[in-house]
Amino acid sequence: MAEPEVDLNKKYDAVIIGSGAAGGMAAHVLTSHGLQVLLLEAGKKLNIEQELRSMEWPYDNAHRGGLPPGSHSLNHNEYTIRRPPYGPGFEKSKNLYNYIGNSDYTKNIVVNERDNPYTGTNYAWVRARCLGGKTNIWGRLALRLSDYDFKAKDRDGYGENWPISYSDIAPYYDKVDLYLGITGVKENLPYLPDSIFQRPTKLNCAEVTLKQGIQKMGRVLTQYRAGVTTDGLKHNKYRSRCYGRGACSRKGGCDIHAAFDSPTGLIYPAMDTGNLTLRTDSVAREITVDPATGKASGVHFTDSQTMKDYTVRGKAVIVAASTLESARLLLLSKSRLYPNGLANSSGHVGHNFCEHIMGPYVAGQATDLVGKPPTLDDGRPGSFYLTRFRNLAEKHPKFIRGYGFEGGSGSSMFPPGTDSSGFGASFKEEIRKNQGSYIAMGAFGEVLSRYENFVDLDPLVKDKWGIPALRFHYKFGDNEHRMAADMKETAQEMFEAAGFKIIFVSDRVLTEGWSIHELGTSRMGNDPKTSVLNQFQQSHDVKNLFVVDGSAFVNASCQNPTWTIMALCWRSCDYLADQLAKNDL
Ligand SMILES: Cc1cc2nc3c(=O)[nH]c(=O)nc-3n(C[C@H](O)[C@H](O)[C@H](O)COP(=O)(O)OP(=O)(O)OC[C@H]3O[C@@H](n4cnc5c(N)ncnc54)[C@H](O)[C@@H]3O)c2cc1C
Ligand code: SF4
Repeated sequence: MAEPEVDLNKKYDAVIIGSGAAGGMAAHVLTSHGLQVLLLEAGKKLNIEQELRSMEWPYDNAHRGGLPPGSHSLNHNEYTIRRPPYGPGFEKSKNLYNYIGNSDYTKNIVVNERDNPYTGTNYAWVRARCLGGKTNIWGRLALRLSDYDFKAKDRDGYGENWPISYSDIAPYYDKVDLYLGITGVKENLPYLPDSIFQRPTKLNCAEVTLKQGIQKMGRVLTQYRAGVTTDGLKHNKYRSRCYGRGACSRKGGCDIHAAFDSPTGLIYPAMDTGNLTLRTDSVAREITVDPATGKASGVHFTDSQTMKDYTVRGKAVIVAASTLESARLLLLSKSRLYPNGLANSSGHVGHNFCEHIMGPYVAGQATDLVGKPPTLDDGRPGSFYLTRFRNLAEKHPKFIRGYGFEGGSGSSMFPPGTDSSGFGASFKEEIRKNQGSYIAMGAFGEVLSRYENFVDLDPLVKDKWGIPALRFHYKFGDNEHRMAADMKETAQEMFEAAGFKIIFVSDRVLTEGWSIHELGTSRMGNDPKTSVLNQFQQSHDVKNLFVVDGSAFVNASCQNPTWTIMALCWRSCDYLADQLAKNDL
């Protein structure tokens, strides 16, 4: 694939910052409209198949798949006890990674925390600086939002409604489904709309038992809706259909790209149009502004390797650096015209920051499966999703909004139970006997969007490139803690209804950020005084500036966000192309 050089004398139709789910989608849609697009990505273009090595056996890896000496990945306690995470106590570790960078397969995909510091309240911030960003290792659960989310304020009076309804975005969800592929089963649920699904995966015995056990409670368990092509995609030569190797569940990523990732799903096809120029190792540090018009004029970036600075020009600038990095970039882009940062006349940039609370879970055993012959259960790209049931028809007395569970069961390459005590033949026999009978699930719940939860720039700390670091002011609130207590109770109640032996139930809440679903820092709305973007993710203040990632979310809902990020981005980029054609930007 020929990669054209960046032309610094050219005014591109659009300059996109970031190449993850959002930036990749923007590149796909805008190049399909025939626009000349430049995509700037801060990280490297990795040889991703070489990184992921999906079929490598643990015994073929020098460190059994773990990190080499001199490298350390932060665990839960280290995020909460030591502040900041890369501070004293970690001197021996030259390379320090977030909790996802805990394997030989992910260590080069996530950032080295030492080069990319952040400050403030505890937060497990997972960043992937490379072509494709976090989509290289995402968990693949691909869910739609509904009017229960877009119009949540109408139901409980809290927060703001989105300026769009499900009917506005539904055609774009369909486009994403058809272009990228998704597996699942139709359930006809008004609060979790179906996608256009390809061949579904199968539930195993204990999962079917749970599904049937909770049916009488009016609760729904369905196959994992994975952003994976199980039937293949005739229009995409870079991706294979899923062969059910389960490697994506073991360590993240799929080296044959059956699981969606932005480079093979969006960026390489966009490059094939001849309309896309890609520049990796390009750290955007400011969006430049034309003082005469107040419009965005381009992007000032630093080459991450040579440290040289460049400026490129564009008719439109599209920020897609991921929710928190996008907020950082807008706040960094101060000028005489915009002293509080770009697109920030409302003072809402960085605020209303929300995500999903995680932690409470239950583990149990289907005792009727003990001693049964092993079955191939981890040869699939996901297990099950138990959908939201709180605050739909009835109001819960203690909290608003809802949560869902992700879980799984069955035989697997690394069976649960190996951490129990024992040794020798009797220990092995015990593991073999029990291994296929375990089942577990953990919850993801909506964190309310609140102005008081925000990020800003640290006045002192800078990253490796001299760019001010992000500072967190973010805590879960009472609603989240009450919801977490309920998650534990309902998890236990559902396992009991299914007849499982309960092994462990936890209501321990994981550190803020653990869900990796950060959202809301430049929310959309109709009122420029209380929102940053309009319904097309276009800045109220700067007409030719768009922020197309999770920043625009008005609330977090409890569904995983990536499919919605891409559907919204597609809709906004169609609008942008139309406005450019009319010369109205
Ligand atoms: C382990 C894991 C599991 C997950 N599971 C799920 C799941 O099951 N379902 C789901 O919906 N979501 C899941 N997610 C979240 C999902 O990956 C994100 O929602 C999605 O990738 C967001 O897309 P994005 O484009 O906003 O950000 P990213 O994918 O993070 O891409 C942003 C890109 O911008 C680049 N960038 C940042 N700053 C700059 C700068 N200054 N200049 C230039 N470039 C810059 C970054 O290097 C990066 O490549 C998971 C994530 C992880 C890590
Ligand atoms: S199960 Fe499918 S998506 Fe997952 S690694 Fe295997 S081929 Fe890829």
